Amino acid sequence: MPNQPHRSDGTESPAEAEVVDLVSSLIRFDTSNTGELETTTGERECAEWVAQQLAEVGYETEYVESGAPGRGNVFARLKGRDSRALLIHGHLDVVPAEPADWSVHPFAGAVEDGYVWGRGAIDMKDMVGMTLALARQFKRNGTVPPRDLVFAFLADEEAGGKYGSHWLVEHRPDLFDGVTEAVGEVGGFSLTVPTRDGGERRLYLVETAEKGIAWMRLTVKARAGHGSFLHPDNAVTMLSEAVARLGRHTFPLVPTDAVVDFLAAVSEETGLEFDTASPDFDGMLAKLGGISRIIGATLRDTANPTMLRAGYKANVIPQSAEAVVDCRVVPGRQAEFEREVDELIGPDVEREWITKLEPYETTFDGHLVDAMNDALLAHDPHARTVPYLLSGGTDAKAFAKLGIRCFGFSPLQLPANLDFAALFHGVDERVPVDALKFGTRVLEHFLLHS
Ligand SMILES: [Zn+2]
Repeated sequence: MPNQPHRSDGTESPAEAEVVDLVSSLIRFDTSNTGELETTTGERECAEWVAQQLAEVGYETEYVESGAPGRGNVFARLKGRDSRALLIHGHLDVVPAEPADWSVHPFAGAVEDGYVWGRGAIDMKDMVGMTLALARQFKRNGTVPPRDLVFAFLADEEAGGKYGSHWLVEHRPDLFDGVTEAVGEVGGFSLTVPTRDGGERRLYLVETAEKGIAWMRLTVKARAGHGSFLHPDNAVTMLSEAVARLGRHTFPLVPTDAVVDFLAAVSEETGLEFDTASPDFDGMLAKLGGISRIIGATLRDTANPTMLRAGYKANVIPQSAEAVVDCRVVPGRQAEFEREVDELIGPDVEREWITKLEPYETTFDGHLVDAMNDALLAHDPHARTVPYLLSGGTDAKAFAKLGIRCFGFSPLQLPANLDFAALFHGVDERVPVDALKFGTRVLEHFLLHS
């Protein structure tokens, strides 16, 4: 479906004209975050390039390394009429990619078939490119936005932000002086749903809440011994039982405000019913297609075992066995979640948190939400914004510690049949060229009215 061009004569803004090149260039920096300091090496070069793009048009930039050499972040500020600043943040790191699995090289930045291809195309060098393009356009035009805009390009989001946003919030809070609100990933993208009257409606999902992240190590310590003897207190057996119980467990459905509002909006448009009390709720949700994998995970806590370690020889029963479990907790559920986990794993299993990041939640209202609505409607008259809860985590968790109100808003108008959820950290990650240009127009409107 056509959307409104930014200018009445149909020509592109300077930001629209360069956004595809910028995203493609960003993808060509291999900023793979392996989770290990020794092997995560591309961020500095990418950050320096971003700083150069900003300096070229007259910004004073600050390059900051966050806790370890090479973990590069870049900050720039555009003075507005009001000093209550808005933070626009994007991370420069990406998850690793295996070139052999891809149709194009993941770090070539190919522009083909109407898409920009490569690792980071939607997570989140798309938003970084749109932000960069607009920052450059504003500076060149001498634009004075309604409020200070703080542009932040960050390291280490994909490993939880210990060497990125969390370090910056703790050691350099001055970089966020005056910031009251923020926008970043993962929201603002469209989801096309069939309407009651046989038409289609584009919902734009704005992230207003995030589940907590709780990575847990489980350890069983028992008696070592010979593999040929009777040995009921075998650490490997005991750990495996606990891990299987946890991995098979379904936590209770806990609909939060964001999820309830989201489902109500989808019902209103589509006529589909979502009764969270029904035993067939998952079946109702599946009618939403690919997005149901994201939404389904926002309704309950999850505990997915991801790593196992034990033993060193076939005939030696080891003294200990270890597992790592990736847990994601619905806002407000932490205490209840821990009680349930302890009951499942039993008294012989020790548990400790490796990483624990609080959930985040704000309301879907106020001036900034109005500005998102207006910006989307100005460029897509079929738009309807709806709040949603993200099952993952973003740098918003760090900024919330400074009292900053955070939203996921990186606008993209997507083709109705694109399985967007499958592209996150997926093979053949790509973003439509049209979506980038649309997003740039919406973001411009938003930033100039925020
Ligand atoms: Zn991301």
